[in-house]
Amino acid sequence: MLQLADTLTRTVRPVRIPEPGQPVTMYSCGPTVYRYAHVGNLRTFLMPDLIRRALLYHGMAVRQVQNITDVGHLRDERFDRGDDPMLVAAGLEDKTPGQIADAYEAAFHADAAVMNLLPAHVYPRATEHIPEMLALAERLEDLGHAYRTEAGNVYFAVSTWPGYGRLSGNTLDALRAGHRGEVEGDKRDPADFALWKAAGEGRLLKWPSRWGDGFPGWHLECSAMAMRHLGDRFDIHTGGEDNVFPHHEDEIAQSGPIVGGPPADLWIHGAFLMTSGRKMAKSAGNFQRVTELADDGIEALAFRYLCLTARYSRRLDYSEESLAAAATALTALRSRLRALGPAADNGPWAAPAVLAAGRAADRPTGSAAGVRGHALPDGQAEPVVVDRAGSPAAPLSPAGRELHERFVAAIDDDLDMPTAVATIHATLRADLPADERRWLVLDADAVLGLDLHRVWQPQPPAAVFEPRVDALLAERAQARAGRDWERADEIRERLRALGMEPVDLADGTTELRLIDPSKGG
Ligand code: AMP
Ligand code: ZN
Repeated sequence: MLQLADTLTRTVRPVRIPEPGQPVTMYSCGPTVYRYAHVGNLRTFLMPDLIRRALLYHGMAVRQVQNITDVGHLRDERFDRGDDPMLVAAGLEDKTPGQIADAYEAAFHADAAVMNLLPAHVYPRATEHIPEMLALAERLEDLGHAYRTEAGNVYFAVSTWPGYGRLSGNTLDALRAGHRGEVEGDKRDPADFALWKAAGEGRLLKWPSRWGDGFPGWHLECSAMAMRHLGDRFDIHTGGEDNVFPHHEDEIAQSGPIVGGPPADLWIHGAFLMTSGRKMAKSAGNFQRVTELADDGIEALAFRYLCLTARYSRRLDYSEESLAAAATALTALRSRLRALGPAADNGPWAAPAVLAAGRAADRPTGSAAGVRGHALPDGQAEPVVVDRAGSPAAPLSPAGRELHERFVAAIDDDLDMPTAVATIHATLRADLPADERRWLVLDADAVLGLDLHRVWQPQPPAAVFEPRVDALLAERAQARAGRDWERADEIRERLRALGMEPVDLADGTTELRLIDPSKGG
């Protein structure tokens, strides 16, 4: 069974097996939509995708919720000034906060699609859950865990929650010492944190409450939305290493008194993606968007491959060299696989089921109302719930079985993807019939998510980034500028045949998205 490193108990523990017919439940901290997500953010979002795929591979359904933070949160240096990055971006781009959030939420889904991330079942937006957040803050105040100040702010009193600091390994004394004894503003204890902030003059995003007009603290969002969409207790909570403190520490404190303990069983954190020794950050300018990699002739799945070369708990260096090495390794993997020839349509060695991530078009756009986020209708189960790990469907030889088991053991060992990928390369080189090698690799791709089944399609993905794609794009742009729609459509069809969909963006640029050409446009 899949074991994961739990930050809270500092142990590697198996995921709880749910009641028959019930899914494993997972809450993943999502993007703040005031700028494009960068490849570092996507590394963090890839981790729950791998968890989900590994569980599906074990025949367990998963219900995943990923929040969209579309209201400013109180963190970093902006905390003191009360600046909300959403509002700052709205001012800079001369748009409403809603327009900003819509545009970057849609961009996030496009990025997730090219990375082959399975879409979450629900993408709740913070602004659509203000009543839930208020209800939670009110209960905490009524129970004596929170207090309102003269200024109209509401703080959580950390001294009322005995477990405070357990997740991050902090003690209250150390946390207080970190504030050098100064109590910020109107807090009673320097370690207390805001549940609700009074709205200042001219603030665009604010809501009425029993404490006056204001807006919620960032952490409150995840407590309230997890409770609403997954219930009081759920199995897995994911985020980046910087979410451990204060975000998740505060989330446990807020939810704890209501649900009777930490809301999630396992707290899993992914390590940073680094550039030149520094954390890639929205504010630092060392920023790369995954959909922009195509401009440099690199496909997004090469970045996915790069992420698979390190354990999620280790920091990973992102550079032109590391990315190029990943692209080369992926190309080599594909050509070895292609050389085995396509699978028969039927029989024991027919290609195993693909775990499709859906295309960008199947995903919600930023402007879609409501909280549903998945292409599957309400109540419909995950497509793949057979135990592929324990009962592989093909008649494997003892040596093939050994390779399969090595792969499963790597996955189960806290997602040891480097070993899993090495096993796939070893499988391709193994002294086994082509049918068996192909089957093992395609089966493993349900977890790797590298779209390996596409290597036999007329134009394999490795070939589509050749310069002629650029030439076609330029020609199409020219045709469109000259209102020659017929020619523009012709070129679109040619790009589609190459497995790419040109998507014209509002700002006049065109983005290429990978599609499955066998499915048509
Ligand atoms: P944000 O959109 O800024 O709220 O960030 C979304 C997620 O990305 C958070 O869970 C962060 O922990 C994570 N994150 C931010 N920077 C990096 C990075 N350089 N590498 C990996 N994850 C990151
Ligand atoms: Zn969160």
